[in-house]
Amino acid sequence: MIVGTLDSKKVSLRWRRTKIIATIGPATDSAKNIDALIKAGVNVFRLNMSHGDHDGHRAVFKKIRRCADKSGTTIAILMDLCGPKIRAGKFEDSSIHLKKNQKVIISCNKGIGHEGLIISQYRQLYKDIEPKQRILLDDGNMECRVESVDGKEIVCKVIYGGELKDNKGINLPDSMVSAASFTAKDKKDVQLAMALDADFVALSFVRTAKDIQSLQRYMRKTGKELPVIAKIERPEAVVNLDDIIDAAYGIMIARGDLGIELPAEEVPLIQKEIIDKARANHRPVIVATQMMESMITNARPTRAEVGDVANAAISSSDAVMLSAETAVGKYPVKTVKMMDKILREIERHQWNTGNFGDVIDGVEKASSSRKAIAHAANTLARDLKLQGIIVPTRSGHTAVVISASRPSSPLLGVSTHMHTCQKLSLHWGIIPFLIKKGEASNWEALSQDVSKRCNLTKTGNRVLFVSGFNDNEELNEPVLKIIKVKV
Ligand code: PEP
Repeated sequence: MIVGTLDSKKVSLRWRRTKIIATIGPATDSAKNIDALIKAGVNVFRLNMSHGDHDGHRAVFKKIRRCADKSGTTIAILMDLCGPKIRAGKFEDSSIHLKKNQKVIISCNKGIGHEGLIISQYRQLYKDIEPKQRILLDDGNMECRVESVDGKEIVCKVIYGGELKDNKGINLPDSMVSAASFTAKDKKDVQLAMALDADFVALSFVRTAKDIQSLQRYMRKTGKELPVIAKIERPEAVVNLDDIIDAAYGIMIARGDLGIELPAEEVPLIQKEIIDKARANHRPVIVATQMMESMITNARPTRAEVGDVANAAISSSDAVMLSAETAVGKYPVKTVKMMDKILREIERHQWNTGNFGDVIDGVEKASSSRKAIAHAANTLARDLKLQGIIVPTRSGHTAVVISASRPSSPLLGVSTHMHTCQKLSLHWGIIPFLIKKGEASNWEALSQDVSKRCNLTKTGNRVLFVSGFNDNEELNEPVLKIIKVKV
């Protein structure tokens, strides 16, 4: 089946459907680099609140907005809150060496570490851990086993050693961490996100829907509720996935920590399950971490990394995310270009086969008129080979529901609200299109104008216009109209 379609003409799609998220860091925080990343195809920038300070994040945020404006590209900004990420403290000489079978103390007292002593920034760690449990360090690269807990000091034996640098992560795969998911630092960071009017905030180490709800409540009380992306990286989150999907705006499969907290071999199937469930519920889903890891130092990705990015597109995720590759890597722009090429190659094939994603329960089994219309729009666009689907949308929701059915025609989310356009840039296949207020009143004129400005009239002359949705099902009067574009 594949062989027959691989020979089809090598024409890449004009618009890539799977979106790219790049994390900004010291390697990319200049306007010049941000410009280059936008040109290479980044749709969303991530600011990781685990690193840097508020002045630095504020400056980068403004730079991104300015660069996006200058380039005429719609770009979203996601601010990633650390949550209760447990970290080691600093060392006298910036790092220590852990040797196999060596005794090491992890202390919950304040101080600075040295050979044989690691300081935990999480002061309650001694309460959450018991003898025989594992403590993993530096993304699981090193492993210790607890021998005893002596007051606020945890005595461990090193199982796998290595060099442990300042501030590296600590994971406790065998225990329940009692720290609140939404921490005091997160509160300060989310204040900054609200002040800057970020497009999304991501919450790390979510365990239940309640974690999301307490962040949402806090935002509502103190400022403006921003869309929350739940990072799935704890085993409890996998168990509580349905409720978390229900509560959050979107989902990130944070494979870095998830693959440490759970046996790594379980992650690929969990990834597939999360993608399908999120899509069935119209939630954007991001596959994150180590996608092009070797490009932190090498100019070419490994073949396995190419396969990983391709698999995320084949599984129909909304977005793929780069972390250290763009934050501190040697080849950030090259990495984005490479990712763009891989995604386009997969999508070219998907387009040729007319299948941009497996049919999954929930999306196709329409239970609301929005879903039914999305399904119909998808079928019409595919069967009649329509040049585009034009969806005027205030909140973005209608375009989002149509996106979840993965239509083959370009999907234009047309809005008078810049924030809606920015939000839509995370979603699979949606091309955000900003219009002025007065332009929204006449559908016919709007469709003609949008089609022309997007150059949708070259090879055909019909587009699908979808409108008339209301959040109140009672007031819904959806309209599907096939419009002939007057070239
Ligand atoms: C992850 O753990 O995969 C992740 C995305 O989180 P962070 O980069 O914040 O550690």
